[in-house]
Amino acid sequence: MGKSKEQRIKNLKRNRIWPSVLGLFLILFIFATILIAVMTASAADIVNRKLVDSVITTTKVAELFENYDSGNGESIEQTVLSHIDVLDEIDAVAVIDADENPVWSSNGTYPDTDRLTSTELLHGIAEQEIRVIINDDKDQLFTIDGEGIIINESAVEAFKDTLNAEELNVTDPFGGMTLWIVIPVNDLDVMVLNNIQIYVQDFAMIMVYLAFFGILLAVFVLYYLISLIGVVLEVRRTTKIIYTDMVTGGDNWLSFIKKGTKLLKKNRNGKKNYAVLHLEMRKYRSFCTCFGVIKGQELIENLYNILKKEIKRKEVMAYQENAAFGLLLIYTEKDELEARIRRIETLLSGALPGMKMYFGTGVYLVQTGEDDLEQLCNNAMIACEMAGEETENKTAYFDVEMNNQKLWERRVEDDMERALANKEFQVYLQPKISTSREVLGGAEALVRWIHPTEGFISPNRFIPIFEKNGFILKLDDYMLEEIARVQSEWLAEGRSLVPISVNISRAHFTREDLAEHICAIVDKYQVPHDVIELELTESAFFDDKSVLLDTVKKLRDAGFPVSMDDFGAGYSSLNSLKEMQIDVLKIDADFFRGVEAEERGLLIVSEVIGLAKKLNMKIVAEGIESKEQVEFLTEQECDLIQGYFYAKPMPVAEFAEKYSV
Ligand code: C2E
Ligand code: CA
Ligand code: CA
Repeated sequence: MGKSKEQRIKNLKRNRIWPSVLGLFLILFIFATILIAVMTASAADIVNRKLVDSVITTTKVAELFENYDSGNGESIEQTVLSHIDVLDEIDAVAVIDADENPVWSSNGTYPDTDRLTSTELLHGIAEQEIRVIINDDKDQLFTIDGEGIIINESAVEAFKDTLNAEELNVTDPFGGMTLWIVIPVNDLDVMVLNNIQIYVQDFAMIMVYLAFFGILLAVFVLYYLISLIGVVLEVRRTTKIIYTDMVTGGDNWLSFIKKGTKLLKKNRNGKKNYAVLHLEMRKYRSFCTCFGVIKGQELIENLYNILKKEIKRKEVMAYQENAAFGLLLIYTEKDELEARIRRIETLLSGALPGMKMYFGTGVYLVQTGEDDLEQLCNNAMIACEMAGEETENKTAYFDVEMNNQKLWERRVEDDMERALANKEFQVYLQPKISTSREVLGGAEALVRWIHPTEGFISPNRFIPIFEKNGFILKLDDYMLEEIARVQSEWLAEGRSLVPISVNISRAHFTREDLAEHICAIVDKYQVPHDVIELELTESAFFDDKSVLLDTVKKLRDAGFPVSMDDFGAGYSSLNSLKEMQIDVLKIDADFFRGVEAEERGLLIVSEVIGLAKKLNMKIVAEGIESKEQVEFLTEQECDLIQGYFYAKPMPVAEFAEKYSV
């Protein structure tokens, strides 16, 4: 597959998926950021509130000690216990004296007094000021107002920052966070230390946030996933459309090339033998004309399904266009491949019972390392074209010669118009000699291409190409006009004229005004019609009969002699002889060739000559090379002989000089 084609398909897929994937990541990122911000803010808020509550409680405990008098016999414990309601509100409370000695604790725990000292808690701390000792080495200074509310905003912020930076300073939120709140009492005689713990249940709000955001996030993610699945399905659908053939519903040509190239690439070492087939149904267009395009497409689908069943693992096939399929098959022996192709053709031929169908197959045997499937298919296609013959199943193998032939056809097509304008096509004349008197009885005009670089080119190399592409119409007109011109010149010079025959290709018989067209060309030069003979090949008699019969009649009525060329070379045209009047019968050179067929051939020739005479036709024998042939034909009273025995075709000037009559 071409690079750009592959690239275009890739782009199509990539462009569709990435925006959605990126969108999903963006959403996740935004959610995560918002969540962290909200969680941090609310965590700080929770801690702050807890802190404030604790400070109030601690202050209440401290108040108990304001009036504590150790001298009145009431223990600290009793003092505190007498205020049970206060104790209920706190997690743990501890009291130490001015020398940092533990005095009493509600649950037996005390803060690390070394740290109390090191942070110089006991000194320089004013009344209304509170220390908060977090259970690691951080502590913060708060100022509270008369109601025990933290009023030192910057301290709160700093506290929050600490929480932010250290992820709430909770290494394990389920384990809780321990803070000690320190309040001096009685001018530092006693310190009341309130140990507060922040547990996970304190973070319940965060859990609510978390759940809320989680649900929201899940909805978004779900939405995105659904849309992503949609996109993926869409991409798969597009891919399917790109690789599906609309006529057969199976793999299309693009997919065939892609998969096939992959298989060939994998087989780089040549372990398997691959063959590329171009298999095409003959006369598909005619089928569509008769039965309609829809029926034609149904037939193609039918053929595709038959072929599909014949495809094994590591083989691929697809419909190309114009009733042609491409196949990449594995084979071991050429014979086996041949047999498989026969089998496939037989299966396909039976697709429509009661209808004769023919297939042409071009085969290219892949060489080790070759993987440009498109090129290989082209080779198989060329082979198929070369197979010719539309009335039976035919297989042709690609060889280099075919490629050369194809290149040559291209070249001819590129050059032909210019060649005609530059008069590179030249008229050669070959004499027809009368058997009775051994004098010139006529001539045939044969074209020669004198190419500026290729030199002399024989008509067999370009006439079939012109017949295929239609250029023969122009060339024959040119030859006819040249002959009319030559005859008119010779007439003006006072020479006696013999009929010169011009070949009229079967391609002309598509136009109904052919006779008028020929008359118009000849009449430009004012030459009598009877010196211009028109040679029609036998095959022309198989085309549109009505046009042919009509044209031949018109031409003969206009005075042109008409001859049937190559009589007996192809299909029997005895029937044609019955249907229309012809002036001259040209017996094909093949009758005189080959030793074995000689006797039978000569017998037929003599009978044909007899028949022609009875039908009032002249006989010309072509391709005569030997004296014996001439003698035989003279004996049989054949009228004219054309062949190398007398002369090869020659340029007009040479002819004029040699046969000055
Ligand atoms: P054709 O019309 O059957 O022409 C007779 C061919 O036999 C000529 O080949 C001629 O040179 C060759 N020939 C004549 N005598 C002998 C012989 O004794 N031995 C052998 N081996 N060959 C002999 P050429 O000129 O190569 O032309 C080949 C074919 O090309 C012609 O066969 C004709 O079908 C076609 N052609 C030539 N010129 C024209 C043209 O101007 N228009 C059309 N439509 N076809 C042409
Ligand atoms: Ca001829
Ligand atoms: Ca001939």
